[in-house]
Amino acid sequence: MDYNEPIFNDALFYQKRKHGKYRVVAAPSIGAAISDTHAHIQMLPNPALALAKALVWGVDFVCDICDVCEDAETAFENLSAYQAEAIPLAHDLVASTLLLPDDDPVVAMTKEQIRERVSHEGWDDGVHMRIAVGCHPHNAKDFDGEALSRLRTLLSDPRVCAIGEIGLDYHYDFSPRPVQVEVFRTQIRMAHELGLPISLHIREAHDEALRILTEEGFPTSGVLLHCFNLDPQTLEPWLEHDCFVAFGGPLTFKASDYVRASARLVPKDRLLTETDAPYMAPEPMRGVVCGPQHTVYTADVLARTLGYEALDARAELFGQLMDNAKGLLDRDPLDWQCIPAKLIEKD
Ligand SMILES: [Zn+2]
Ligand SMILES: [Zn+2]
Repeated sequence: MDYNEPIFNDALFYQKRKHGKYRVVAAPSIGAAISDTHAHIQMLPNPALALAKALVWGVDFVCDICDVCEDAETAFENLSAYQAEAIPLAHDLVASTLLLPDDDPVVAMTKEQIRERVSHEGWDDGVHMRIAVGCHPHNAKDFDGEALSRLRTLLSDPRVCAIGEIGLDYHYDFSPRPVQVEVFRTQIRMAHELGLPISLHIREAHDEALRILTEEGFPTSGVLLHCFNLDPQTLEPWLEHDCFVAFGGPLTFKASDYVRASARLVPKDRLLTETDAPYMAPEPMRGVVCGPQHTVYTADVLARTLGYEALDARAELFGQLMDNAKGLLDRDPLDWQCIPAKLIEKD
């Protein structure tokens, strides 16, 4: 991934080739609004432009992920401005794309897709966004008392919809394992206390994470396993606990048949799409800085993996996926904000 890659001011998708060259590639026809349930928007080189591209391509709902020890302040301060700036930028992208000559068949097809997209009233209402904030296992070593109180303050922002991403990363071990476990437990307890869902980052630690969640209790507001890229056997216990499972770029990789086999096992009301932007760009965009607009490729592979080929069948699937995303991550803050359990019992 190269943060200095050229920024293209149109809505085409540019695949990275050898020797610093790029080639325009076709976008799949999605035909319905889709969501990116995991994107680090503030980490992108041009967040507003990325949201504009998301808007053009119908990625209408995005859950931004930020870290209390890293970039939460930037995210909370700037996200609303990025969202607002994205709307005129989306108009510019549409205009500049429609001006391109038709001689390349991919360009001609993209122009057709964009004409269809902007023919619907309200296509430019903006990307709806919510925020998940937490302490990533990489940063667990920095999660002190001060960070904990900062997290509590951030969680009271009405845009917040989940605690995340939290969990265990025993691949990189950037924080000592006992510290990762402690910080994970603390945040699971906060999710219970506040009635919030959690978004999980688990790497090479699935058994340990399941054990901890079983001890602490799976938060009843929902548990989302982000960027699932493993086999059905690893997935099964998570499904037994009714977890939501989000698939990103790895679902599209050529060698990932086992990930696609996992996707087939997830009940339709627990399935989600995501990117993990700026990381994990899907095929055929691997190697570029990933943005929320790239969800279209993952959604397309997911639909094909599940046998949804016709556009109307796909629209039904994507409608269900949007309901899943919003049902989990777009709840009214009044539904979860700290209401002492005893008060509810009295009524
Ligand atoms: Zn992650
Ligand atoms: Zn992430």
